[in-house]
Amino acid sequence: MSPTNSSPVRIGLVREQRPGERRVALIPSDIRRLSAKAAVLVEREAGREAGFPDDAYIDAGARVTSRDDVIAGSELLVKIRPPEDPQALRPGSIVISLGGRDGDLAGALRARSVIHLGLELLPRTARAQSMDVLSSQAAIAGYVAVLEGARVLDVLLPMMTTAAGSIRPAKMIVLGAGVAGLQAIATARRLGAITHGFDVREAAREQVESLGARFVFPKVELAPAEAAGGYAAEQSADQQARLRRALIEHLAPMQLIVASAQIPGTPAPLLIDEETIAALQPGTVIVDLAAESGGNCALTRPDELVITSGGIRILGPTNMPSAAATDASRFFSGNIRALLDHLIGDDGRLQLEGDDPIVVALLAGQTP
Ligand code: NAD
Repeated sequence: MSPTNSSPVRIGLVREQRPGERRVALIPSDIRRLSAKAAVLVEREAGREAGFPDDAYIDAGARVTSRDDVIAGSELLVKIRPPEDPQALRPGSIVISLGGRDGDLAGALRARSVIHLGLELLPRTARAQSMDVLSSQAAIAGYVAVLEGARVLDVLLPMMTTAAGSIRPAKMIVLGAGVAGLQAIATARRLGAITHGFDVREAAREQVESLGARFVFPKVELAPAEAAGGYAAEQSADQQARLRRALIEHLAPMQLIVASAQIPGTPAPLLIDEETIAALQPGTVIVDLAAESGGNCALTRPDELVITSGGIRILGPTNMPSAAATDASRFFSGNIRALLDHLIGDDGRLQLEGDDPIVVALLAGQTP
């Protein structure tokens, strides 16, 4: 697909509307770097909550205007969250955002003749790594999860000695040692905790151990656990249940549990049920990073702090990266700039044709 004239593609950047979403999809320095290829329209205050004021966008060469003007005047819209109101989009335009696995959204956008490039669908290849928003945002989520968990804990993470005596370091474990989990281990270790990690993918063992954490592998038969693209494969309900029972002895001594086990496109695997919770020590904190896709813990409630009668505290954040909105936006924007650089030729034309694997994967969400 190419614009009909030879002027650079017009990109629109809108302010996120989901409550609590403070990030912005493009920051001024990346707009400046794209200026040879694209003209950018920015909705007023799009970056304010992430620390990027309108003046910085104007200095970078963008035109700052109303949301309606941005939507009406751009061929390609970029945002973080899936479009909140598909009916408001300009027919024939292209949207780059999350939401690539949402079939209802795909239907609504097709009906509006809007092409959606869903960021979850990027292939996990070396070429696409610089565009991978899931990885960049997961790394931030893992870091913030440990800080949030430490804030709610009544014990300290590091060993500490004072004239009043000594305290031992806290024990923490990550369930699901992917990008977020590994960053959580690295963060907790820097803060002085004794760290552990568990994952169904055997490949995670080396990564966990290379961070100085202990890899926990419960004695239970699991299905081959590596699927395409480095993701995990789903376990059967029976295997999941046996895994939960086998994990209990490993979870019982922990003070901080960061749960980040996910399988793309499916509900998060249940790793902590009520029987497990009953075996934990009072005061244990669980940060369930899988809350948005159903949670790894049975008692997680999205965006709430649950305190059980046994004194276990469960946090279920659904948008952890937004807590570090400036740097999360920096990373997200860097990913989007890399993607736009790939999609827009030096002549300022969008190239969505051909057999480019990145384009093919991104467009796959459009197929009914
Ligand atoms: P993810 O967010 O889909 O899942 C998080 C973790 O949960 C994964 O490690 C997964 O194995 C684990 N998990 C799933 N079911 C589980 C269960 N029942 N019990 C315990 N753990 C379970 O994955 P992710 O963090 O995005 O990435 C996973 C892997 O892919 C990582 O090894 C990462 O290095 C790799 N990766 C590769 C690329 C690339 O090559 N471009 C990009 C990003 C990630």
